Amino acid sequence: MGNPKAFLTIDRQEAGYRPVHDRVLDFSEVEQTLNANDRRLQASRCMDCGVPFCNWACPLGNRAPEWNDALYKGDYELAYRLLNSTNDFPEFTGRICPALCEKACVLNLTMHAPSTNRENEAAITETAFRENYVRIETPVRNGKTIAVIGAGPAGLVAANRLNHMGYTVTVFDKNESAGGLLRYGIPNFKLNKNIIDRRLAVLEAEGIIFKYGQEIDVTDLPAGFDAYVISTGTPQARDLNIPGRELKGVHLALELLSQQNRVLAGMEFSKEKRVTCKGKNVLVIGGGDTGSDCIGTAHRQGCKSVTQIEIMPKPPVGPEDPANPWPNWPRTLKTTSSHEEGCTRRWNINSLRFIGENGELTGVEVQPIDWKPNPEGGRPIMVTAGEPEVIKAEIVLLAMGFLKPQQPEFAPNVFVAGDAANGASLVVRAMASGRDIAAKVDAFLK
Ligand SMILES: Cc1cc2nc3c(=O)[nH]c(=O)nc-3n(C[C@H](O)[C@H](O)[C@H](O)COP(=O)(O)OP(=O)(O)OC[C@H]3O[C@@H](n4cnc5c(N)ncnc54)[C@H](O)[C@@H]3O)c2cc1C
Ligand code: SF4
Repeated sequence: MGNPKAFLTIDRQEAGYRPVHDRVLDFSEVEQTLNANDRRLQASRCMDCGVPFCNWACPLGNRAPEWNDALYKGDYELAYRLLNSTNDFPEFTGRICPALCEKACVLNLTMHAPSTNRENEAAITETAFRENYVRIETPVRNGKTIAVIGAGPAGLVAANRLNHMGYTVTVFDKNESAGGLLRYGIPNFKLNKNIIDRRLAVLEAEGIIFKYGQEIDVTDLPAGFDAYVISTGTPQARDLNIPGRELKGVHLALELLSQQNRVLAGMEFSKEKRVTCKGKNVLVIGGGDTGSDCIGTAHRQGCKSVTQIEIMPKPPVGPEDPANPWPNWPRTLKTTSSHEEGCTRRWNINSLRFIGENGELTGVEVQPIDWKPNPEGGRPIMVTAGEPEVIKAEIVLLAMGFLKPQQPEFAPNVFVAGDAANGASLVVRAMASGRDIAAKVDAFLK
């Protein structure tokens, strides 16, 4: 902790987003960066607390006080080594982590201005790549082989760790490239795909074998490996089976998001197969992050309007909610860069039926509702709270989460990691799970 009074004299400064009028015209990353001096000043605000709650809150246990100190002192190489010791791919979390650490920062408790850990993490990692601190290692092989099924963040971390331990790792994925939802879910304006490609080049140079276009039946795993990691994510989205579901224009969110990312990667789709919001009134059903990504994508495709509805009540507004106090993750209203780009947001709205003409969607009949406490405890009871109404929409995007996969009983040399084990969550949690599973595989094979 180089400057013990910095937190009193230097304000939190976020790099912020590109202006709305500029960023909605392209799919490039919306977030900007600070210059090196301002970044250093931000790192100096970290107080190196005796009990670092940031470390407790980060699923990876990232040692923010240590790397913030190295960053403040200008030692980017040390900062990267410290960061990379717990976080295999800080260029991903530095961009898209919701920064659980910052919510648990003591400066968030005292002045609602936590240390800018996530942005600092991205800055350290970008410098590390630029200055060649990310080196290609040549692991000494131990003669044992591992198959990783699924190349999302969980599988990639497991593969990376096991490869460094000396195992020969083959990663199988059904898609045409690696990254999982990093590549085929999260929009480019949050995470440019060259960031994934840059890391993949390192993993390949270090000896990990990637096999794409391979959909593996997990009950019939490829023979000949000493152990297996199943990191297949949560492939099944929650659907909305109300009347009219078959109408043209009703899509699962990932049909839009993954196709848009593929289009940006150069893939072509016929007019019939293209999912686009261009010139349409868009209704997003589901108030979470996936829904927000649909909003940003709809704007960039040239939609006419966007409405987002959510069946649950509006979360409390404000930096904290007394019902779940610091240092827990605050369940308060979140406004993303995509919301800032324009969107009507409504809560306590239930969807009754999709309406259409000649097989094409024209709107959705919805019902304002309310939630009453359940006298028997448990989930509150939904009651109507207004007349049904129709929201005009030519395209609906269903962003209501994913079903937790039921995994079969596996042999003792098969391990499950990431969302496939825990249900849909966050990249940082998937990465932490991949790291833990790698340690378990190693312990098993030893
Ligand atoms: C639209 C969207 C936006 C998100 N935004 C964020 C965000 O901003 N920040 C954040 O922290 N989290 C975000 N998340 C959540 C995050 O992406 C996931 O929690 C994380 O990617 C899970 O990682 P995983 O490796 O477990 O699974 P996945 O990323 O789902 O990867 C699973 C991989 O397994 C492959 N696979 C599946 N079945 C098979 C099979 N049978 N054979 C071979 N391969 C198979 C898939 O092709 C895929 O590559 C978002 C999720 C979505 C859907
Ligand atoms: S991975 Fe997320 S929670 Fe962990 S230190 Fe980075 S921004 Fe914070």
